[in-house]
Amino acid sequence: MHAELVMIGSELLLGEIVDSNATRLAKMLRHIGLDLYYKTTVGDNEDRITQVLNLALDRSDVVITSGGLGPTVDDMTRQAVANATGRKLVYSKQLERQIAARFRSFGRKMSDNNKRQAYLPEGAIPLRNPVGTAPCFLSEDVRGRGFVISLPGVPRELEYMMEHTIIPLLVERMGGAKIIKARVLRTCAVGESDVDRAIGDLMTATNPTVALAAHPGQTDIRITAKANSEVEADALMAPLEADLRRRLGVAIYGVDKETVPEVVGRLLAENGLKLAIIDTLTGGQLGREMVEAGFGDVIITGLKPAGPGEAFQAVGLADDVNLQAADGYTQAAALARAIAPHGGIGLALLGPLADGVNDHLTFIAVAGDSLTEEIRQRGRTRRFQPHEEDYIRRWLVIQGLDWVRRAILGQLTSPVDWK
Ligand code: ATP
Ligand code: MG
Repeated sequence: MHAELVMIGSELLLGEIVDSNATRLAKMLRHIGLDLYYKTTVGDNEDRITQVLNLALDRSDVVITSGGLGPTVDDMTRQAVANATGRKLVYSKQLERQIAARFRSFGRKMSDNNKRQAYLPEGAIPLRNPVGTAPCFLSEDVRGRGFVISLPGVPRELEYMMEHTIIPLLVERMGGAKIIKARVLRTCAVGESDVDRAIGDLMTATNPTVALAAHPGQTDIRITAKANSEVEADALMAPLEADLRRRLGVAIYGVDKETVPEVVGRLLAENGLKLAIIDTLTGGQLGREMVEAGFGDVIITGLKPAGPGEAFQAVGLADDVNLQAADGYTQAAALARAIAPHGGIGLALLGPLADGVNDHLTFIAVAGDSLTEEIRQRGRTRRFQPHEEDYIRRWLVIQGLDWVRRAILGQLTSPVDWK
């Protein structure tokens, strides 16, 4: 079974209102695992709405409409649904009584206009709308192509009807409770294209599905399973997750909502390690993110000199002429070593250093006597264009923290290349 949305209202086509109903409907359908294949927006025109509904019934089992159920002449959803489902529009005394009672309940008299709302496609099931005056309904197609559910355009009413009436109705028609469960494996310091290369062949699976989302310095892998129960969904996802973990290894730093600062903070705390930072690149953002994640107490030094010269001064290396002449890789490693606390880790983010072709090089190094010799000497570079600044800062925070993470895990040599 799959669904299609028909969003009705000329103001949607004129760009006067944002189609928040479509987003709401899509999310709610996804939640119960009812696949949505199409969404069409159409203005307040009977012929065009009828055409769209006919096409929708041809290709989908469930059609949900939004809008055009009001009492005015430009509200023609009722007529169009009657046309498309091959039924006459008939007057319901019972509906009229319901509408009149509702008007009485808030001390108003029902106008003749409102009587328009008592018309329904013949044989349609009226769905009581306790938060508005327009009755909703479900109309089965006479030719057996499925059914149309019509809901009001007013977002509050639509949401209420979905939650209380339509979702339970759809779940029942789908043949029992279905759930969708998602799990996000979060990678950092690996390019999206590298992740794609490593797991691309898994992205054609249909249940569970695998999808990627990229953020600065991070790529999320979302696994989504459809099942009859949580346990069944877990069972579907487990082998896939194991496969993803086998392929991506240390690049996966956490799951779901875990952030890089949180994970690194936890690793430092669990291992009884302190972190000293010298950072000429992010304006102190790396340290701030650690503090915001609740790990301010693992940081023992947080230097943020304005540039390389000030950085050497801050750690007492300003007179080392050999170091001044060395490459950024060596300089960053020397800074990291200079600040590393006994039994802890020093992290240096150094740059930007102009390389003579109008761009910037950045260097990251970690050092510490608790780390292996190989790791102590490591540094990495990346070229940046100055206009990328916000992106770079975020990217560098993730890269810097990831160096610390991999250093603690003893896996600084990652299988996937830095890009
Ligand atoms: P009413 O009885 O109020 O006329 P209706 O079912 O006829 O309800 P519409 O007239 O199409 O619904 O829309 C009523 C109001 O609901 C619109 O003025 C608009 O503010 C809002 N609305 C309509 N469609 C959408 C939509 N797709 N997304 C968000 N808001 C919408
Ligand atoms: Mg209206």
